[in-house]
Amino acid sequence: MSDLDRAFKRAFDDDEPTTLGSGWWSGAASVFCGSLAMAGVACFLFPDYLTTAEVRARLPLNWARAILQVVIVLAFILGLISTALRRRKVMGLFGMSLASIASILGGSGIDFTLSNADAPSLGLDWFALNVLLLAALFVPMERRWPLRPEQSTFRPGWTTDTLYFLTSHLFVQVTTFLILAPAHAAFVALDGQAWRSAIAHLPLVVQFSAVLLCADLAEYGIHRAFHAVPALWRFHAIHHSSIDMDWLAGSRLHIVDVIVTRAIVVCPLFALGFDQRAVAAYLVFVSFHAVFIHANVRFDLSRLEPWIVTPRFHHWHHAKERAAIDKNFAVHLPWIDRLFGTAYEPADRWPEHYGIEGDPVPPDLIPQTVWPLRNRGRG
Ligand SMILES: [Zn+2]
Ligand SMILES: [Zn+2]
Repeated sequence: MSDLDRAFKRAFDDDEPTTLGSGWWSGAASVFCGSLAMAGVACFLFPDYLTTAEVRARLPLNWARAILQVVIVLAFILGLISTALRRRKVMGLFGMSLASIASILGGSGIDFTLSNADAPSLGLDWFALNVLLLAALFVPMERRWPLRPEQSTFRPGWTTDTLYFLTSHLFVQVTTFLILAPAHAAFVALDGQAWRSAIAHLPLVVQFSAVLLCADLAEYGIHRAFHAVPALWRFHAIHHSSIDMDWLAGSRLHIVDVIVTRAIVVCPLFALGFDQRAVAAYLVFVSFHAVFIHANVRFDLSRLEPWIVTPRFHHWHHAKERAAIDKNFAVHLPWIDRLFGTAYEPADRWPEHYGIEGDPVPPDLIPQTVWPLRNRGRG
């Protein structure tokens, strides 16, 4: 358990049940919506520094206002439900307080004026929208079809993974720049090649399949290197330090792991000159698929297992079991592992335990960030 986990427990925990109808879920959802409402209001108040051009271009302003309004109202309603149902009112009251402050500051009616659209910006809008969408999709899914019903949404380490999710979104401008730098260089170096325009004119479905293949071959190579080279493993070990798997666990990635892996994965996509729409479709696909394969869900996907990486395939990649170590490196196409002899797919079985033998990695974000630089040797 991390220090932040303990702080949350102290602030919100009590000895009452957390089952549906106990006011626990409505309270947690109220705090979640209240926090998002504050983030939304901050984005409206300081759009130059907190919103990104990419989100502004795609999300109409009236939609953004409607989403913010709904989130504020939800924080109030859920807070009221929680305070009515629960003896200890702290969660419901806290959620409603956040929603009140968001409303007093102007709520969804704040003027949205950009004075310096080119200012360096934290992607708070991108974080808030993504966490809202993914939490709304995956939390109910994990409660309805859990692989491990006994595992809480607020399992040990959830705050650490939320911080990874937050920081990776807030610094999206810097990381995107670093990730795309080699790809841009490759794109420029190969400009004017006839085969590139041939690729760009292939049907989009063919291009999307080719993008998936190129990306996962690159992922396979660099992922295997991250496991095989001790200096790289220390960075990648952070991702493997989760002892519970769920939708948030996939966010736990050292910044060096994120930049190196993604730079290598996107390089061929730009170098080969694929149509931007095929690459964009891949980026949307990967943002859901990467979350899904870590999720605490038990679906029968045996028909898909030969073709596409399922949660079971990737859960085995995180397994503690000796036979599963350094297996299942592909993240989209499992037959790449079969082709290279690194697939581990026991029939009808899920791993018993996840993580690294001896649990060498500390539980909090900052110690985890410096851990690879301090610790030599595997584990
Ligand atoms: Zn790995
Ligand atoms: Zn993983």
